[in-house]
Amino acid sequence: MNNPIIKRGIHNFQLLKYYVQRQKNKINLLILNLRKQQNESFECPICGYNGPFLDEDVSSGLRKNAICPNCNALERHRIQFLVINDVLRTLNTADLRMLHFAPEPFFHELFSKRFGRYETADLNMKDVDHNVDLQQLPFKNETYDFVFASHVLEHIRDDEKAITEIRRILRPNGVAILPVPIVAETTIEYPKPIPSEFYHVRAPGIDYYERYERHFSRVERFYSDSYPDKYQLYIYEDRSQWPTKECPLRLPMQGEKHIDIIPVCYV
Ligand SMILES: [Zn+2]
Repeated sequence: MNNPIIKRGIHNFQLLKYYVQRQKNKINLLILNLRKQQNESFECPICGYNGPFLDEDVSSGLRKNAICPNCNALERHRIQFLVINDVLRTLNTADLRMLHFAPEPFFHELFSKRFGRYETADLNMKDVDHNVDLQQLPFKNETYDFVFASHVLEHIRDDEKAITEIRRILRPNGVAILPVPIVAETTIEYPKPIPSEFYHVRAPGIDYYERYERHFSRVERFYSDSYPDKYQLYIYEDRSQWPTKECPLRLPMQGEKHIDIIPVCYV
């Protein structure tokens, strides 16, 4: 160790390590700043998270700014949460009975705390109160005050019958929130369920909610732009490439930023 050449060597090695570490820090800082510039910051209305949202890797490519990294809520969960809160504000929910189809964990707490009676239903899911077919419900007329079924009707062949059934079990002044994924200009009916599209039997279009208007006195529509941009409620998706192997019967749509629409149906 007393050899001055070895001493100088160790000194130089430490200097080199120090220099490399400094360069690494500079690069990390640069990457962080670049990320900050690229990643817009958003706010999750469900969990209160503030920061960048994650992209969702779907068959049609990356769906930009889709997922809240804290609670995993997607665009549709965030807009539905905002709409539900707007609607519930106008109702005396403690006195009301609600039926939740295909219950999502995101809304379980919100609904079960607010409604006097909260029941869940699904055709196949376990741990629900009622295993029932929406096209043939075993409930008496005017049983429920509020029905929520999100992304359900695009799986049902006879959706007209299902809408009739939902309307039938609702009490006077009842409300139903029945959103479907809007993925076409005009609704396309599929001849058979498409496995790569989660067995959807149709591609609902912007016109789809007109079907509800035949059964309900009023259908109020909430759009992605009905709320502040900070919640990021748009669907970023390259739909110009449709039809594809995964989505064989869909038609191309223009643009990469698509609007979501949530319908609130009043008896
Ligand atoms: Zn969240």
